[in-house]
Amino acid sequence: MTEQPAAPDHRAAVSRTTFDSVDPATGAMVATFPVDGATEVRDAVARARAATRWWDGLGFDGRGRRLAAWRKALHSSLDELADLVHRENGKSVDEATLEIGAHLDVLAWASANAGRVLGTRRVRRGLITSNQAASVTYRPYGVVGVIGTWNWPVYTPGGAIVSALAAGNCVVYKPSELTPAIGRFVVDAFTTVVGEHPVLSTVTGFGPSGAALCSAGVDKLSFVGSAATGRTVMAQCATTLTPVVLELGGKDAMIVADDADLDAAVDGALWLGVGNSGQTCIGTERIYVTDRVYDAFLDKLTARARRLTAGGPEPCGYGPMLSPGQIETVRRHVQDALARGGRAVVGGPESVRPPFIDPIVLVDVPDDAPAMAEETFGPTLVVTRVRDTDEAVAKANSGPFGLGASVFSRHHGRRIAAGLRVGMVSVNNVMVFTAVGGLPFGGVGDSGFGRVHGADGLREFAWPKAMTVQQMAPPFNPMSFFRGPSAIRNYRALIRMLHGRRSR
Ligand code: NAD
Repeated sequence: MTEQPAAPDHRAAVSRTTFDSVDPATGAMVATFPVDGATEVRDAVARARAATRWWDGLGFDGRGRRLAAWRKALHSSLDELADLVHRENGKSVDEATLEIGAHLDVLAWASANAGRVLGTRRVRRGLITSNQAASVTYRPYGVVGVIGTWNWPVYTPGGAIVSALAAGNCVVYKPSELTPAIGRFVVDAFTTVVGEHPVLSTVTGFGPSGAALCSAGVDKLSFVGSAATGRTVMAQCATTLTPVVLELGGKDAMIVADDADLDAAVDGALWLGVGNSGQTCIGTERIYVTDRVYDAFLDKLTARARRLTAGGPEPCGYGPMLSPGQIETVRRHVQDALARGGRAVVGGPESVRPPFIDPIVLVDVPDDAPAMAEETFGPTLVVTRVRDTDEAVAKANSGPFGLGASVFSRHHGRRIAAGLRVGMVSVNNVMVFTAVGGLPFGGVGDSGFGRVHGADGLREFAWPKAMTVQQMAPPFNPMSFFRGPSAIRNYRALIRMLHGRRSR
């Protein structure tokens, strides 16, 4: 499968030095931002670098208090931020509120647990090193660059920003060119509680501004976006050996087994596949249903999907597509699926009425069609009949992506989920893993690597430093040119005891 290159989407008006962000539903202007070039980006990184010693010096407790204050500041402006997310991203105020709430959970977990996860940890020593005290500490990288996307503009870049800050790094953040005002709002809230130094700042602009951040001397780069841009970012960072975290796209599957609660599965499929107009990296795009319950599932799914309307009122309405390029991808996938013998049982090409797309449910689509193999990123669901859950797992695992998944089965959910090659999976619900602050978020294969959130996310933004401290002189020292003949003899006796035939 070849992925379509991510076409830069210059929906907003662009002048040489500024660009406007607009409401995708109405075209109304939201705000104007500078197009930051290499000099501005490099300056922002230099300012952040000057703040690293101070932020690191606050320690876990000091940073935890500031991060808790940031959480409170964001909470007290919840309505204002939800309204801004609605206006600039297009999702409904309810969906925006859920996204912000999930971000606040992540923030709470990181600020409360960073010291426990990253604080100095003693490590058990062995017999040969019994005279040493062994420990590991986790040190922040310094300045972390975060490049974000627009679809979950608070939560997804927020995961990297929060993990990096809690680990003691300063952050320079480039929000998506489609949602810069949301990025700026979140950073301004931080500045109200950490005003002393530019610990967290933004640079704005399009792809070249992101590219400038990759080569501005950051110590680690965390990227959220498409696999196509992720490859470019990784290549850019390779020239300076800058380590990267890549949170990329997906083609998430749902498996519905014979013993599934079909109503719950339908509810979850629509929420995660159609909500946010399907513009969710962990959105359900493929549904594999076992033969015995396929017809009943499809009946329920189609009946409920017909109640949803793009641009309609809440709770059954959802917002517009944010990027015209993505609308064309959805149109292409649907038309191609129909041309290959697929059938639309809800909606069809006529559902695409920019900037909105009504729900589309497809069946009988061949496995190699783009609608099955590439990320669609729109409110479309492709339902496929399978013999059993083994076939469902095999089909779900085909293809290069491995981000999230869901499984509906009353008795076999854990077993089915264990066979899936994905970074995250929910059994008998959808995307609940995002609501557990201690769980890592990320994928495998073309969905990227590295993690944000939870202990793994905190460790992603710190380097481990191993230390031994000798507490008493060793009885013999084989690691010396002047060891004398008995030292290696004693050492051989010790390793025979530890690793020889009679060892355990
Ligand atoms: P995109 O790759 O077009 O852009 C992402 C960001 O990269 C933007 O800020 C953009 O300005 C910047 N950029 C573009 N070219 C660049 C370059 N050469 N160097 C550096 N930065 C550059 O993606 P998008 O359209 O904003 O987002 C949609 C994609 O993001 C989908 O594939 C979706 O699945 C994925 N996504 C993944 C996650 C995750 O956590 N895995 C979360 C949200 C979205």
